[in-house]
Amino acid sequence: MSAASHYRICPLCEACCGLQVQTEGGKVTAIRGAEDDVFSAGYICPKGVALKDLHEDPDRLRTPLVRRDGKLRPASWDEAFEEIARRLPAIQQAHGRDAVAVTVGNPSAHKMSLLLYFGRLAKALGTKNVFSASTLDQMPKQLSAGLMFGHWLSIPVPDIERTQWLLVIGANPIASNGSLWTVPDFRGKSKALRARGGRLVVIDPRRTETAAVADEHHFIRPGSDVFLLAAMVHTLFEEGLVRTGRLTPHLSGLDALRPALAAFTPEAVAARCGIEAAAIRRLARELAGAERAAVYGRIGTCTQAFGTLSSWLVDVLNVLTGHLDEPGGAMFPKAAAFAANTMGVPGRGRGITTGRHASRVSGAPEVFGELPITCLAEEIETPGPGQVRALITVASNPVLSAPGGPRLAQALEQLDFMVSLDIYLNETTRHADVVLPGLSPLEDSHYDVAFPQLSFRNHARYSGPVFEPPAGQPPEWQTLLRLCAIAQGLGAMADVLALDDQLVEAEVRKVAGDNTPLVMRALGSRKGPDRLLDLALRSGPYGDGFGLKPGGLNLDQVMATPGGIDLGELAPRIPEVLRTAGGHIELAPPLLLADLPRALAELNAAAAPLVVIGRRDVRSNNSWMHNLPLLAKGPFRGALLVHPADAARCGVQDGGAARLLGAGQSVAVQVEFSDALMPGVVCLPHGWGHDLPGAQLALAAERPGANLNAVLDIGARDPLSGNAVLSGGAVTLMPARTS
Ligand code: SF4
Repeated sequence: MSAASHYRICPLCEACCGLQVQTEGGKVTAIRGAEDDVFSAGYICPKGVALKDLHEDPDRLRTPLVRRDGKLRPASWDEAFEEIARRLPAIQQAHGRDAVAVTVGNPSAHKMSLLLYFGRLAKALGTKNVFSASTLDQMPKQLSAGLMFGHWLSIPVPDIERTQWLLVIGANPIASNGSLWTVPDFRGKSKALRARGGRLVVIDPRRTETAAVADEHHFIRPGSDVFLLAAMVHTLFEEGLVRTGRLTPHLSGLDALRPALAAFTPEAVAARCGIEAAAIRRLARELAGAERAAVYGRIGTCTQAFGTLSSWLVDVLNVLTGHLDEPGGAMFPKAAAFAANTMGVPGRGRGITTGRHASRVSGAPEVFGELPITCLAEEIETPGPGQVRALITVASNPVLSAPGGPRLAQALEQLDFMVSLDIYLNETTRHADVVLPGLSPLEDSHYDVAFPQLSFRNHARYSGPVFEPPAGQPPEWQTLLRLCAIAQGLGAMADVLALDDQLVEAEVRKVAGDNTPLVMRALGSRKGPDRLLDLALRSGPYGDGFGLKPGGLNLDQVMATPGGIDLGELAPRIPEVLRTAGGHIELAPPLLLADLPRALAELNAAAAPLVVIGRRDVRSNNSWMHNLPLLAKGPFRGALLVHPADAARCGVQDGGAARLLGAGQSVAVQVEFSDALMPGVVCLPHGWGHDLPGAQLALAAERPGANLNAVLDIGARDPLSGNAVLSGGAVTLMPARTS
């Protein structure tokens, strides 16, 4: 086979960089950033290069596995599906639909196939027990955006190329390249911001890589972002700095805000936050006074007991200072496909609802159709009607990624049946009875379904498969449809292509009504995600309207443009973007105001002497990249960072072994001194702990690291969003020998 060059959108993190993949003889020979990508312009990080390692990883599953005599053994696809058809419907029939739970993990957001078809599986199962990684790190932002703007993914993002003042709270975009904000090469963009005279301010308990290049950095006590943000809002009111400008006629609830936040003065919150009152006031004034400014809060603001309040206050600040929906401020992207805030009647909708049902054991409310993933273990363990007896996991590893992992691992052993769709036999899927492998990202076509809704610039990009999938291996969308068929009692041999036709026709009917037959014909012979994508593009805001808007987008056009089509800088979208019932920006949703007394009660609570936070490394992303040689080599990245003063107090040594205790569990850690931490805070990345028996991640197991989530309280959640509390858990540190 001759050498060839292929365009591929990187599926490994939210930055969605365009890559150029060189191949020869069926092998990847080089991967570099695609210079002509309209969105990422040649940027690449080490993870992108490691796509070759992922594709070639000998531990990546290529054959289904079925448990026989207690051991997972290779099986044919037919055998695997027949095993599922034999066991899953029997559980549904005997114990009801809620007896089968389903979880979906972060990698599904990066696979068109999984993202477009997972929801169909959840629907076909008809279970209330739907769990995802969203309740580990992002549900608070989705909930606050839904309450304020009317849809879960109407999340404003900083207009980084035009802003002059950017406040980053609880985020490290130099390592992540954005999260709920798709912004490849944040380092370059932040450098450009400062070169044009702009200012970058970072608030974080650690002097992160982003803080290190900022103009100003403040340490903050983990879990206290809500107090800082509330005090900044308070300052705006108190000092007459509220300027809502063009948005004024579109606001609801402004009058309720000031009294609701009256108690959160900078002086009242300063000690709790660890930031002086004068600095809080100055930041509020600078934000209000800047011509083009934005506030961006991320993981740290979400993964705490007041995640939804914090996420809400970030956007309240953007609104009250006149920076929401303004160039250089926090703006709403307009995606070419799949964005709910481009559908229906512009400017008005149904808003969102939570709590339509609750988890059986803890009574945690449903949010966005999901229950908190930290409820999964108790739903399996607790007998009674509705007990979870079977589980399907899709690209999900909650044993490492969710608090209480060891308890969940024990609970998984109690299940009557478990199925996993995954590319690895990892710490969670090792418990399954049937494991169905997914394709390598290089064997799949791709269009980012979610991330253009969060991107710093509007665009449409598609990449086809670099390699043919292995003979006989179905793409994930077909595997999911076959699971749907089994869940609906249609058996393992159902015609999934006919099922796909039915679901596409139902989608077409929503947008085309009586013209459905015409549109179905226009969609041609494509199947699966590509056909859904063509429908979404053509009926989307830039689409060709199936001929009604000549020159508009369709999939043929996007496919014919490797490197993508630029759809321009972000533009103001209010009121058109709103989907709240009243057609306003809801500044004071009752659900959030009712949670403020809880925050006030916590304001003066005694702080734990030592708390733990997570961290992001550019060579890692959650639990699944530690088996790739390019990313695993070099210094160990899973050490516990400890401030020297805390180390002296706890008696641990730089480079030494120690035990970290929390939530009744302890893990062995390797200590690394760091004066980049706020004293009283230790820092351990999550996603490690690859020393569990039965997993097949040989390289990761050589330096397994410690599972942060083992020492976090499985019951600690933000009650509004159900999000786990990952930041600020109380811990004890001691030398290994004293444990
Ligand atoms: S930043 Fe790295 S991992 Fe993320 S999309 Fe770009 S190349 Fe891939």
